[in-house]
Amino acid sequence: MKLVPVLIASATLPLPVLAQAVLPTEAVPNRAPLQQAPFVALALGSVDATGWLEHQLRLQTNGLTGHAEEAISELGPDNGWRGGPGEGWEKGPYFLRGLVSLAYVTDDAKLKAQGQKWIEAILASQTPEGQIGPKSSNDWWPRMVICWTLRDYYEATKDERVIPCLLKYCRYMLQKMPEQPLFEWAKARSGDQIDTVHWLYNRTGEAFLLDLSALLEKQANRWNSFYRSLDGSPGDFRIVHGVNVSQGMKFPVTNYERTGSTDDKTAFKDAWATLRKKHGLSVGMWSGTEPLAGKSTTQGIEMCSIVEQMLSNEVAMEALGDPEIADWHERIAFNLLPGGTTKEFKQFQYYTVPNCPVARKNEKGTLPYADDHGDDLLVSPHSGFHCCCYNLHMGWPKYVQHAWMATQDGGLAAMAYGPTKVSVKIGGTPVTIEEETDYPFSDVVRLTVRPGKDLAFPLKLRIPSWAVNARVAVNGEFVSGVKQGEFLTIQRTWKAGDKVLAEFPAEIETENGFNGSASLWRGPLVFSLRIKEQVESVTKIAGGKFDELEYRPGSAWNYALDIERGKPGNVKLTRGKMPENPWLPESTPVTLTVPAKRLPSWGLVRQERMADEVPLSPVKSEEPVEQVTLVPFGAQTLRITAFPLLRGEAVLEPGFTASHHHGGDATDVILRNPTPASSRGEGMPRFTFWNHVGTAEWIQNTYEEVKEISSVSVYWFDDSDSGRCRVPQSWQVTYLDGSEWKPVANASGYGVAKDALNTVKFDAVKTRAIRVEVKLQPEFSGGLLQLKAE
Ligand SMILES: [Zn+2]
Repeated sequence: MKLVPVLIASATLPLPVLAQAVLPTEAVPNRAPLQQAPFVALALGSVDATGWLEHQLRLQTNGLTGHAEEAISELGPDNGWRGGPGEGWEKGPYFLRGLVSLAYVTDDAKLKAQGQKWIEAILASQTPEGQIGPKSSNDWWPRMVICWTLRDYYEATKDERVIPCLLKYCRYMLQKMPEQPLFEWAKARSGDQIDTVHWLYNRTGEAFLLDLSALLEKQANRWNSFYRSLDGSPGDFRIVHGVNVSQGMKFPVTNYERTGSTDDKTAFKDAWATLRKKHGLSVGMWSGTEPLAGKSTTQGIEMCSIVEQMLSNEVAMEALGDPEIADWHERIAFNLLPGGTTKEFKQFQYYTVPNCPVARKNEKGTLPYADDHGDDLLVSPHSGFHCCCYNLHMGWPKYVQHAWMATQDGGLAAMAYGPTKVSVKIGGTPVTIEEETDYPFSDVVRLTVRPGKDLAFPLKLRIPSWAVNARVAVNGEFVSGVKQGEFLTIQRTWKAGDKVLAEFPAEIETENGFNGSASLWRGPLVFSLRIKEQVESVTKIAGGKFDELEYRPGSAWNYALDIERGKPGNVKLTRGKMPENPWLPESTPVTLTVPAKRLPSWGLVRQERMADEVPLSPVKSEEPVEQVTLVPFGAQTLRITAFPLLRGEAVLEPGFTASHHHGGDATDVILRNPTPASSRGEGMPRFTFWNHVGTAEWIQNTYEEVKEISSVSVYWFDDSDSGRCRVPQSWQVTYLDGSEWKPVANASGYGVAKDALNTVKFDAVKTRAIRVEVKLQPEFSGGLLQLKAE
């Protein structure tokens, strides 16, 4: 095949001069003075799912979303948002947003009718002043979700009651917010409302909406500075809360649309970099149980954070146009979303954990989660705190909705891949593009372009940053200008039936994780050990259709891999037939075969409710080499994803970790705190092991490179006047020597003085990591205000 360089431009080259760009009717661009965005979202309903994605949405329709009223409480006619006396906070709004998205992506009459009952009640609830929803609460936060739902519903139906309702409500907000400012969750999630306010401004041009947008910025958490330092500002509400962190990412992005400032523009990607560095798990996101929780392989990600991060990504993909964001987005959608839900979409886990060989109920306080509800790993239609069970429904339909977007110059862009069909009108001409693919289980994407008549418009394809030697062909002729991590623009006059073929080959690569562990990735998929799952129903729900399930491992899980770090040569990829549901472990179409040895010393801990921390690599094992099977993360509920390695050097991820910490606490801020005036540490961020009492605990700081250390100073936290934290019974400093923790030699003495800096000097060590190991006093907890190692 010959190369045809003409008509092709990469994203970084100037486009051929076009006639006045005409955007698809389904795309409403930003109205001045808002910044023009590189992409414009399409109305809900413009993109349909086909292939495995359609099957996934059908499972959701027949599973938890379509039957939520049977499986989870509080969604019946009593709900406050349906005009009843019941729940009037976030539960109804969360569920309705997912339901409406699913209903109009699938065009399902039954789901639409189900949603309409809520919509009618909400529209009818508006007071003459403009307030909407139950009178039981005037919290701005759940109304942010309702506003988003109403705009989705409007995009799909054009119901002419919606815009006046939203305008009236926004006028009410602007008038009321000076005396009733954003409070608690609304303060953290203000970016959600700003996005809707801009949506409404683009459709109406009402100038007061820009004043409201500015006020919503002013009264919110200081997200931009947090995303760069992970230190909060005075007055912030729960800024380290994982779901807030994910939702808050819309805040700088939407502000950027109004301000055009570089600070706002760069905060989204800065957030990703900081969060991955300090709290990153090698499954595509960072921990949050519920607050950010470090890099341990047994920490998890709340289901709300998964779907909210996806929505924030979708907003950022449109406004910032950076293809890397879509790479990250796919990794969440194709791993964490199916990994956290059961394969028939009837149950889920509150926390999705990289290394999770057992999933059962536990006594509260057993697991190392600041918020341990006792059923966070239980596989249930309402696992953990009752937020995710209402919120998770939007994940897949919103992925489909944003898989395609309009381009600023009047074309269409494939933003995130999967089997879909986009249908729009450009300048009055209907255009459909069918995307046939088994992606991410296949590297090949086939597009068929069908304009109603010959039509010139640019078609942009995202070339994933991991795609090695990607190729794109138009009607059988490969085109030039394909670059990893950029958008390829194909500008031509499209004829009905034109074919575009894209190939995105990928290499198998390792990603480094906690304690030098490694996870295996190929393209957007991360792989986990195939563990046989023994499933037991522990609570019958809805006549046995949506039971609560406990999972125990029915095969060995404690393996170390015998591979090289980087691009391992001895991992075998096997492809099978594409099944209807690719997330079933027994029939998933892509598997890896990897040499491994068992590690008998690596077992379950904490009343056998979780795996012990992954041992520090490299590890030794006398066991025989076996060939183990890895399947996509999303195909297992029980899994090991961050493996110890038998080969190579220790690779430590820098960062601050602890055996346990209290959710309201700051973590590594004790490395930067000034010396306090007393152990009470008034007004100072602290670290505590609360609510653990009398236990042995540790905190660990891992450096970027080897450091010589000969003294450690600790300022203990003690709240004898009001609380249950005391100086510890005893402590010691250990350091990492190769892959072993050793106590420092000739320590001058480990002080436990209150209201003083306790310094211990010892023979200098050269190390990558130190630990302060603490034995708490019986019946008491403890903590630190300052930690220095020199
Ligand atoms: Zn949640």
